[in-house]
Amino acid sequence: MSNQEIKKHSKAVTMQHPENDKQYTGLQVNAGVEQPPIVSPYIKKRKKRPQLTVNDYVEGILKGNTTVLGQAVTLVESLATEHQAIAQEVIEKCLPHTGNSRRIGITGVPGAGKSTSIDVFGTYVLNRCETDKLAVLAIDPSSERSKGSILGDKTRMEQLSVHPRAFIRPSPSAGSLGGVARKTRETIMLCEAAGYNNIFVETVGVGQSETAVHSMVDFFLLIQIAGAGDELQGIKRGIMEMADAIGINKADGDNVDRANRQALEFRNALHLYPVPPSGFLPQVTTYSGYYNLNIDKLWKIVDDYFEFVHGNGYFEERRRQQEKYWMYETINEQLKSRFYNDPEIERLLQVKQEMVLDSKQSSFVAASDVLKFYYDNIIKK
Ligand code: GDP
Repeated sequence: MSNQEIKKHSKAVTMQHPENDKQYTGLQVNAGVEQPPIVSPYIKKRKKRPQLTVNDYVEGILKGNTTVLGQAVTLVESLATEHQAIAQEVIEKCLPHTGNSRRIGITGVPGAGKSTSIDVFGTYVLNRCETDKLAVLAIDPSSERSKGSILGDKTRMEQLSVHPRAFIRPSPSAGSLGGVARKTRETIMLCEAAGYNNIFVETVGVGQSETAVHSMVDFFLLIQIAGAGDELQGIKRGIMEMADAIGINKADGDNVDRANRQALEFRNALHLYPVPPSGFLPQVTTYSGYYNLNIDKLWKIVDDYFEFVHGNGYFEERRRQQEKYWMYETINEQLKSRFYNDPEIERLLQVKQEMVLDSKQSSFVAASDVLKFYYDNIIKK
């Protein structure tokens, strides 16, 4: 139908309407206005952003340009092979400028007050030294950025989100934990090259992501709230063992006594754990992120820890071990993704899966067949 025909048709339909009858006294629909043209002649065609070269990225990052840093992080997070190749080159060139930071992991169940606390801790750190910079990153493999993921809503950190020396980046969008964690780790490196000497990595304290965070930070802070009960707060033995400090948040108003009791319970519980490899006995303290109480007390633990582990050599040793861990992690991840993303393997797996389900082949033989096919036909390609 041409435009003119459409207009004619809709006019006819409008005229048939009972409300256009002269006898009709009810509410009437007014005729619509003419539609203005959709494309305004005054809007110039948007220019495509010029593609940056590896050197542009590296130069921008080293100068501390946050726009370039943000674009480089987007590259790191991209699934496109060509982006990943550039990202790896950028990271490689940034490598000599990395490592010079305090990497701090912060965990706690949703509602424990992580965002509120990070906003206050970050502001405290930045106010202490006017040359300090802070990057806040996150690992939350369960979320997609668009769905208001952890840190997705920057306004949750009111002070930091407008602070000129803070860089906040939400969790890379959903994917395998290994993949998401690796991207966050690479982002840490880019941030360090851009001069961010304080890195906070936030994670929800309910799953596996703590282990991933633990393998990329120097210090691990567990945020708890009083009176919620261990089960509710999802404290697994593993998480307790990872913590270098436990902060009991919301120690304000009527809650102070309860928070103090909780702190005592944690201190007693921690006595039962072996001394961690750092040699630093985990500390427990109460504070209030919302009312900005005892932040200095909590941060004194962080400072003491860094002084301690720099003194006994554990700081460097842990970072070396983490490098090793990430080498193996990357190999594992890439082997798996190359294997499972191969279209021929995907097809063969479907067939073999059916055979195993129908008891026509044992799982062991089916697996051997698939692997043999992979070694003989795919790897050699
Ligand atoms: P997250 O989910 O762990 O990031 O927690 P939020 O920072 O979003 O905080 C969850 C809720 O707890 C919010 O309503 C905060 O206002 C509140 N909250 C956070 N810290 C404190 C605190 O120190 N004292 C009190 N009373 N409330 C707090």
